[in-house]
Amino acid sequence: VRVTLVVNTADTGAIEALRRHVEALRQAGSTVRPRVTFEAGDARVFAREAAEEGHDLVVAAGGDGTVNEVVNGLYDWLDEAGYAPDALPRLAVVPLGTGNDLAGALGIPGSVDEAMGVAVDGLAAPLDVAAVNGRRFLNVSTGGFGAAATDDAPTQAKRILGPFAYVLTALRTFATHPTTSARFTAGGEVLYEGAFLAFAVGNTWRTGGGTRITALAEPDDGLLDLCIVQEMGALESLALAPRVRAGTHLDHPGVLYQQVRTVRVDSAEDLRVNADGEPVDGREFRYEILPRRLRVMVPQPSPDAEPAGLGDPDRAG
Ligand SMILES: [Mg+2]
Repeated sequence: VRVTLVVNTADTGAIEALRRHVEALRQAGSTVRPRVTFEAGDARVFAREAAEEGHDLVVAAGGDGTVNEVVNGLYDWLDEAGYAPDALPRLAVVPLGTGNDLAGALGIPGSVDEAMGVAVDGLAAPLDVAAVNGRRFLNVSTGGFGAAATDDAPTQAKRILGPFAYVLTALRTFATHPTTSARFTAGGEVLYEGAFLAFAVGNTWRTGGGTRITALAEPDDGLLDLCIVQEMGALESLALAPRVRAGTHLDHPGVLYQQVRTVRVDSAEDLRVNADGEPVDGREFRYEILPRRLRVMVPQPSPDAEPAGLGDPDRAG
């Protein structure tokens, strides 16, 4: 197996653990090329080169931003080379960021040892890849308070509070962020036109360190989950914020939730949207989904979770 390991972390303990896994893989006969990022964009280049050189697996050891760069790097090569998507290396994730939303959504464990176990011995699941204006993402793209929350969460606060930094910042910006207006179109049909506090287009259910704004999203159903939080009063929005965090907001009268294949967002003013934490600016945003287009290493299903075990008295004990 030929493996590229993209490392983006300052965690020396994690680096030491990765070193042991590189050693073990090499002893088992694999070719492993570790590549350490120095500045933004490096992970994208490393992933692209891994695809170009026909590597079988790219392990993204970092945060969701690193994973996003790796996915875009793989697609840079695919777009140029014009091969079928199954020519791409498999993607594995060792979650070493703050939010670790993709790993959280896919059940990839947080320890380096366990995550490397999934990378090497897990299941290669063909997952959908979402895109906004050509920028690929695996998780969720948000506009409105979500984008502001990710941008504003101070690094220091993220370090101390972890995922809670996002919800605190979101609560604050939810109440103070000026609303903007947009038209949301899917399949030629206008789904919503007017002022909104936030919207999200999700391939998975998890963003901002665990916020379930696209609570029903499945990463392999060929659909994007669109959630629009309409304009509402400050008190109402403050009450709604924790429900958005928990994913219990879907039946709120000010929330529109729909599963679609494409979405187009036309904003009345300049808008910043983020895709897996990376900013995309503009007034027109075209979302699309590429069904089951990337093989991502996920944990093997646990024997306890087998559907056959449900309601089967012979297996219950
Ligand atoms: Mg989906």
